[in-house]
Amino acid sequence: MFGYLIDMDAVIYYGSRLIPGADRFIQELRAAGVPFLFLTNNSQRTRRDVATRLQRLGMDVEEEHVFTCAMATARFLAQQRPGGTAYVIGEGGLMTALHHNGYAIVDKDPDYVVVGEGRTFTFEMVETALGMIRGGAKLIATNLDPNCPTQTGARPGCGALAAMLETASGIKAFSVGKPSPFMLCDAMRELGTAAEHTIIIGDTMGTDILGGVQLGLKTILVLTGSTRRQDLERHAYRPDKIVESIAELDPAALAEEFAAARAVVRLPSSAHADPFAAETRVS
Ligand SMILES: [Mg+2]
Repeated sequence: MFGYLIDMDAVIYYGSRLIPGADRFIQELRAAGVPFLFLTNNSQRTRRDVATRLQRLGMDVEEEHVFTCAMATARFLAQQRPGGTAYVIGEGGLMTALHHNGYAIVDKDPDYVVVGEGRTFTFEMVETALGMIRGGAKLIATNLDPNCPTQTGARPGCGALAAMLETASGIKAFSVGKPSPFMLCDAMRELGTAAEHTIIIGDTMGTDILGGVQLGLKTILVLTGSTRRQDLERHAYRPDKIVESIAELDPAALAEEFAAARAVVRLPSSAHADPFAAETRVS
């Protein structure tokens, strides 16, 4: 059985508008008992907020189906430095995830400066963060997306704010969101599937598809987002499958298609797999 990691922005919805067919696809996954997680690089909302938003769009999902870069970031920090402190430029989703993972939010001498999505930061907060980074706090970005799609266009993303702090401090931010293997591996653990049995669906080459390709997942690009078919020429990697929209996808057909593809590329077994076997015998 395959499990699914599904991006949301421009795959499931645009703002508050559901992409036709997305609800039908999710319904089919649920009916077939296929595990899936919505994966988002937006750290603004908690998983419950996101699930409520999806429910209001008419989707039959629970908060357990949502995995955000805020959750991945908080888990990463809890692993790196349990019980640490953070100064946060971000909103509720990020604060809640940090608290759930044993972190205290402070405005003095933090272990980390953590940057997420938001519309509420001030220049003064950025200046405070800069002072902390210069004083030794580590700079963490929940993701490096340059902008976030909105109903009317785009607004500056977490990557834009991180770039401001990077330029001012001369220190690169460490990012945990897509395409980071940390977030994808953490999500797969939650999903309970191995990489070769995981399919990622997304609209962005540099995050969803790149992350999937690097970890050996099956990748599906939907063209409902900012990527156009001709843009693929600019990339050295390709998705396994390209569709106009999630409406074209059928879980049963995909399972069959990807299982067949795996059978074709299976490596030869025994001595052929070890190019040094002959040499070893001679010496
Ligand atoms: Mg997207």
